[in-house]
Amino acid sequence: MLSAEIIAIGSELLTPEKTDTNSLWLTARLNEIGIDVKLKTIVGDDGARLEETVKDAMRRSDLVITTGGLGPTEDDITRHFTANAVGRELVYHDEIEQHLRERFRLWGREMPEINKRQAFVIEGAEILPNPNGSAVGMYVEMDGKMLAILPGPPRENQPMFNEYVFPKLQAVSGDVFVRRRMLKVSGKGESAVDEVAAPIYTAYPNVQTSVLFNKSEVEIHVAATADTADKAQAIADELAEKLAEALGSAVFSTHGESMEEVVGKRLAALGQTVAVAESCTGGLVGERLTNVPGSSAYFIEGAITYSNEAKMRTLGVPAEILDSHGAVSAQCAEAMAAGMRAHAGTDHAISVTGIAGPDGGSEEKPVGTVFLGYAGPSGVKSVKFVLPGDRYLIRWRSSQAALDYLRRQLGK
Ligand code: ATP
Ligand code: MG
Repeated sequence: MLSAEIIAIGSELLTPEKTDTNSLWLTARLNEIGIDVKLKTIVGDDGARLEETVKDAMRRSDLVITTGGLGPTEDDITRHFTANAVGRELVYHDEIEQHLRERFRLWGREMPEINKRQAFVIEGAEILPNPNGSAVGMYVEMDGKMLAILPGPPRENQPMFNEYVFPKLQAVSGDVFVRRRMLKVSGKGESAVDEVAAPIYTAYPNVQTSVLFNKSEVEIHVAATADTADKAQAIADELAEKLAEALGSAVFSTHGESMEEVVGKRLAALGQTVAVAESCTGGLVGERLTNVPGSSAYFIEGAITYSNEAKMRTLGVPAEILDSHGAVSAQCAEAMAAGMRAHAGTDHAISVTGIAGPDGGSEEKPVGTVFLGYAGPSGVKSVKFVLPGDRYLIRWRSSQAALDYLRRQLGK
């Protein structure tokens, strides 16, 4: 498998104002044909550092792609220092100058003399035409390595890459196609997921599988490689289905969807409605549910009942429950859910009450203690979690657990 690296050139890319998006686009294209990007670098308009970076890159990678710094101005240094890096001269090409003059004439302007610089090309390089701008690109092959030098603007480098560089890479990478699937798992840790998943995915040597924890869920990324796109997709699908079956209801997403999308789709399919009563999540559950387009079909109402008073007044939580069990209790969570369901007249209601911290914890109920309540056709119930993390994470994980709790009530 070919290894690639990308060098984005331009001091503006090292400021907070401008982001290097060229490398993201290039990475996606390279991955499609099974080329791994091993390293990305951003270099400012600094000749010595650029030369050193390109030299190092050519030593360690099969393919090096640079973008930017091919313009006619003083700060456009790519031409000169990539030539130094590969130990070749720049050669003047009269036909490039004539072509540039012709372009300027078409715009009704005289070519500024500094644009002559753009007629210099690395000795032995293939010239990559640029119908969308003034800077030509260059492609150099040496010592079995490939170097593509592309202009900075995406509307110039993308067509150039697609037309002149991609076909060469396709030819050397063979017929390699990569297709992906992503599963998301809740209520299980990374190692518990891997324990089940590893015996299955290790039987697929042509699939790169990674298991990683992301905030409140475990993601399983599957990338299958084959000599046709259809075959790669079929392998990715087959493995994804096997993993989903083995992990059972813990898998909430089989195509990378978010928890709120999955819950929303399920509610819409059932033609049922939901309302939420929140305390420690401060509206996060409602926010996430309503973030999904079309949520008005099933989301009816939410209440942020932060104080005891609000829990009694809005949800009808009995004072005795708050007195004898406290607001963070199974009894309160159930009363909140039941009260919300009665008030909103929905099929389902969920509630969250807990201690997000950093203060307010006790020996009996430490920070992270969260009770989720559910009220629906099957009755009223609750579940307790003690979630790790800081205030932000405890609130996020509470919202995730609440949505997952609802999901599990909705069935397949
Ligand atoms: P030009 O001939 O237009 O000067 P160039 O090859 O010299 O082309 P730069 O001057 O480096 O390219 O960049 C021109 C513009 O292209 C930048 O202002 C920016 O908008 C865009 N650009 C450059 N590099 C990147 C990058 N890595 N990601 C996204 N956009 C980029
Ligand atoms: Mg420029």
